[in-house]
Amino acid sequence: MSMTGGEAEHAPAQPSWKCESCGLPWPCPPARDRLTRENGRVELAVLMWDYIEEAARDMPQSPASELFDRFLRWTD
Ligand SMILES: [Zn+2]
Repeated sequence: MSMTGGEAEHAPAQPSWKCESCGLPWPCPPARDRLTRENGRVELAVLMWDYIEEAARDMPQSPASELFDRFLRWTD
């Protein structure tokens, strides 16, 4: 993954939960790379559970299984 333009944050915009940098549903691939680099396996799981709770409040129409796949399944 090549980075252009230096510090790309790829942070989630709320309440849409789209990436502020690339507009993909967050966590986008660059965000996943960064989260994986910056956190151990357990820390990452804890962090993503926190995000799921926040996202579920912002997107009550999203099924829990969909949020689980999006925020947590990729960490395995
Ligand atoms: Zn992004």
